[in-house]
Amino acid sequence: MQCPKCNGDLETKEHEHIKVQRCSNCYGLFFEPYMLTETLAA
Ligand SMILES: [Zn+2]
Repeated sequence: MQCPKCNGDLETKEHEHIKVQRCSNCYGLFFEPYMLTETLAA
């Protein structure tokens, strides 16, 4: 995946059981929408 801000490479990180995409270029964090839904349902 690519960062929507800077088109840098996103890497998947797991933070407190929540998967997030972190940009290795601008260090922005992006939650995966379906994972966010799953988190809210849990
Ligand atoms: Zn970025």
